Amino acid sequence: MESIDLQNVTDRAIQLLEKLISFPVLGGESNLSISQYIEDVFKEHDIDYHQVFNEDKDKVSLHCRIGPAVDGGTILSGHTDVVSVEGQPWTRKTFELTRENGKLYGRGTADMKGFLACCLAMIPRLQQAPLKRPIYFAFSYDEEIGCLAGPALIEHIIASYTEKPAYAIIGEPSSMQTINAEKGIGMFTTTITSSAAHSSEIRTSVSAINEATYLIQWLNGRMEKLLHEGKIDERFDPPHTTIHVGTIKGGTAVNIVADNCSFEWDIRNIPSDDIQEIIDEFEAYCREREQLNSSTNSDFSISTQANFPVVLSLNTPENEHIVTMVNQWTYTDVPGTVAFGSEAGQYAAAGFKTVVCGPGNMAQGHRADEYIAISQLKKCLSFIDKLMTSQIE
Ligand SMILES: [Zn+2]
Repeated sequence: MESIDLQNVTDRAIQLLEKLISFPVLGGESNLSISQYIEDVFKEHDIDYHQVFNEDKDKVSLHCRIGPAVDGGTILSGHTDVVSVEGQPWTRKTFELTRENGKLYGRGTADMKGFLACCLAMIPRLQQAPLKRPIYFAFSYDEEIGCLAGPALIEHIIASYTEKPAYAIIGEPSSMQTINAEKGIGMFTTTITSSAAHSSEIRTSVSAINEATYLIQWLNGRMEKLLHEGKIDERFDPPHTTIHVGTIKGGTAVNIVADNCSFEWDIRNIPSDDIQEIIDEFEAYCREREQLNSSTNSDFSISTQANFPVVLSLNTPENEHIVTMVNQWTYTDVPGTVAFGSEAGQYAAAGFKTVVCGPGNMAQGHRADEYIAISQLKKCLSFIDKLMTSQIE
């Protein structure tokens, strides 16, 4: 194949990005506007694509294959939603592309429509290539509110193709460096319900606030215990699992024993710590506290809800083929880790060897004046080109 005309493809990617960021689809909102646009691009190139709708049919994930129905292909994964710009001190337009000094400003340029634009801009070249193994695109919604669409999309991919893809590359902004490990994330709300009484009756009633303090101490103690046991993964900063309570609400007045208290907390686990084990142990402790208080107050209860399904950690070994290849294509010496969660753990759990690698930097994502450097788009386009070349050999 002729070598890539990088300038030409970059111009195309910028045009696509300009369009993609004009759809202000936030996590949780209908993404039909942006997905319709992407579908039009697919149609323009005669690509057969699949839709994976939510129950209300107002959100849709898309996936497609370019190349032959042969095992061992690679999925390029992205999301179509972005985070809100509310309350952020933007000095440039938020959902319109501003080009300045080699940078492209606008919500979603880095996280992660720059990657989507690169994928779409490469379609004609991928279609011309005599691919021996296929390349897939998988674009989701509701990623920013807890990677909600990932599991159904992945399931649909597995069901839709007779062949089995082997690898997944998640194009979250990593400055085009290989990321092979991510912490997992769980966020929860724990609610304690008791009965109100006069504050003088504290010895014969159960204060929901007092109970919350026991539970919070338990959570703190659990984190310390992990550290004590030497559960350390130096690739991360901090190099251990964290458990943290971020909000607390409870009680009605200073002279009333609190009949309610709730608090929100999160776990960010290193891959070697089992997040479910911690959750199960916490639940067991809650049942213990209920039991203990049941004779004083038969209505006493503690319940914990996950704010969204646990975002799984990622830990793809450094010697996996996909890691060494992506290292080569991106000139990465040692694969790194990132502090944010993504759909990567979901792809890994489904059996795909997975890494994160995408243009732009998360230092700019989610912030005011989010931008992506045009040089990053170029690196991403060359990267997809190298992936393509490896699928021809
Ligand atoms: Zn993202």
